[in-house]
Amino acid sequence: MTERFDLIVIGSGPAGSAAAKVAAQAGLRVALLDRAAFPRDKLCGGAVSGRCAQLLETIFEQPVTPSLFRTVTRLRLSHDSVPLGLIRNAPPLHMTMRRDFDAVLHRHAAAAGAVIHAPVRIARIDPEGPRVTLDDGRVLEAALMIGADGCNSATARALFGRPFDPADISFALEVELPRHKDAFRTVEIDLAAANWGYGWIFPKNDSITVGVGGMHQRNPDMKAHLRTYLERYVSPAEADAAMQGCKGAFLPAGVYRKVPGAGQVLLAGDAAGLVDPVSGEGIAWALRSGQLAGEACVAALQSGAPGTALRLYGKELAYVQREIDRARIIQKMLFFSPRSAQVVRNLVRKTSVQRAFLRILSGERDYQDIGRKTLLNVSLLFGKSILGGRRQKGGARPPGSSGPDGGAQ
Ligand SMILES: Cc1cc2nc3c(=O)[nH]c(=O)nc-3n(C[C@H](O)[C@H](O)[C@H](O)COP(=O)(O)OP(=O)(O)OC[C@H]3O[C@@H](n4cnc5c(N)ncnc54)[C@H](O)[C@@H]3O)c2cc1C
Repeated sequence: MTERFDLIVIGSGPAGSAAAKVAAQAGLRVALLDRAAFPRDKLCGGAVSGRCAQLLETIFEQPVTPSLFRTVTRLRLSHDSVPLGLIRNAPPLHMTMRRDFDAVLHRHAAAAGAVIHAPVRIARIDPEGPRVTLDDGRVLEAALMIGADGCNSATARALFGRPFDPADISFALEVELPRHKDAFRTVEIDLAAANWGYGWIFPKNDSITVGVGGMHQRNPDMKAHLRTYLERYVSPAEADAAMQGCKGAFLPAGVYRKVPGAGQVLLAGDAAGLVDPVSGEGIAWALRSGQLAGEACVAALQSGAPGTALRLYGKELAYVQREIDRARIIQKMLFFSPRSAQVVRNLVRKTSVQRAFLRILSGERDYQDIGRKTLLNVSLLFGKSILGGRRQKGGARPPGSSGPDGGAQ
């Protein structure tokens, strides 16, 4: 039996729920599919920036409520335990658990009229339909499809052979610590807890998330980095206990699909590689790209030309992609060479640099406001030109067949 929709959205994380909400609200008949029943866990630091909070408000009319978020305004920066600064009045960072957060967004999408299919097992994605065959034999067909199924995207695999080359992306490990004695009131960031990445402590309402993440190929033993980082804060026995529950997942930080999809299929969020390579922030661009993809589908269908959706979407997404390019320059600046440690420490100690980064996190400023000239000047401190970006080509099928294991979703 074939059921017909205007739009099929695969994946109901932030990107998919945003896309489905926007499209259903505009009157499209939307099918929203997820392999999980909600609420479901998703490995993530759950740090929601000011930019992300603004998008939540715009797309979902969802305010930052104390029941869903713990808001923190103290941030401590360090580099291999060397203190670089404690910022007491940082722009608010809102800490959430993705299990609760994603369930709220999923409910908003359903309330807007998206037809929920969750949990479902997808047996086959046919980009030519576009069409999805479920493992119980049902077939869903639509004029357009949005793949918002995360870093290990089956939709991207159906289009391009595999989502990303694991050598190009990042990997992160996390543990949850019980929240005891309100010990952690501060967001902790250590810029050298992993190579080409960082370590974090994010205090939540009911627990504390401790994690390390960085470029996969530069961190062959990420578990050792996490263990070392943990021991700075808890006893060896507590670290042992915490490591029992350690989970890992890939993040597509540092690569994105220049053409975010193919034909009648659009990719959003992690499936399109939209993670900030400096901060590892992915929720904000997942929301924004989902919104833009949903809007592009609405516009294309309203004009009677579904084939224009990808072009419309690509045009609007270009700004996000340029922001990721700019973040890549800063990433290279911070992590280019181990010898740069002292330069990084001196740089990050500067309150002007700290303020600039906090403004970006708060959504007050974008990377583009830092200016290419400033970036060039700073990069000269490191003795090499580090400008330039690396992107995942849109239409090409990368060699090899297996994608990264998305880990605990
Ligand atoms: C350890 C770690 C820490 C992070 N910390 C932060 C942070 O603090 N702040 C931040 O902003 N970002 C963080 N990120 C990045 C952030 O988690 C992602 O960028 C964000 O979740 C992307 O949203 P998405 O909607 O694109 O994909 P996801 O959130 O991954 O959602 C994808 C959805 O698709 C579903 N799905 C997958 N495959 C299928 C399939 N075959 N069929 C049906 N459904 C499917 C999944 O069940 C899931 O619901 C972190 C990532 C990691 C790994």
